[in-house]
Amino acid sequence: MSMMPGWEQQAYSTMGQELDGRADPAEVNYREAEDPEMACAECLNFLPPDQCGVVAGKVNPAGVCDAFTPAEESESPMEDMNE
Ligand code: SF4
Repeated sequence: MSMMPGWEQQAYSTMGQELDGRADPAEVNYREAEDPEMACAECLNFLPPDQCGVVAGKVNPAGVCDAFTPAEESESPMEDMNE
């Protein structure tokens, strides 16, 4: 059962594509993200608009996989100036 018809087809578009040294989405349990703060769009490996540095094929910004790494190092660059 899928909330968004076609989502999986879009997310798993590696059919016939080369993995290019990256992981197959199925291997890293690529799926639709339940938490928007833990999704490709917030991941260090995400390469906008639809690529990932470690997972092959097109990824969806609203997806997530087991290799998720939060990219929140420079949340607020201005904060340094408050000291
Ligand atoms: S969660 Fe991160 S590592 Fe996993 S597919 Fe998305 S961008 Fe790539």
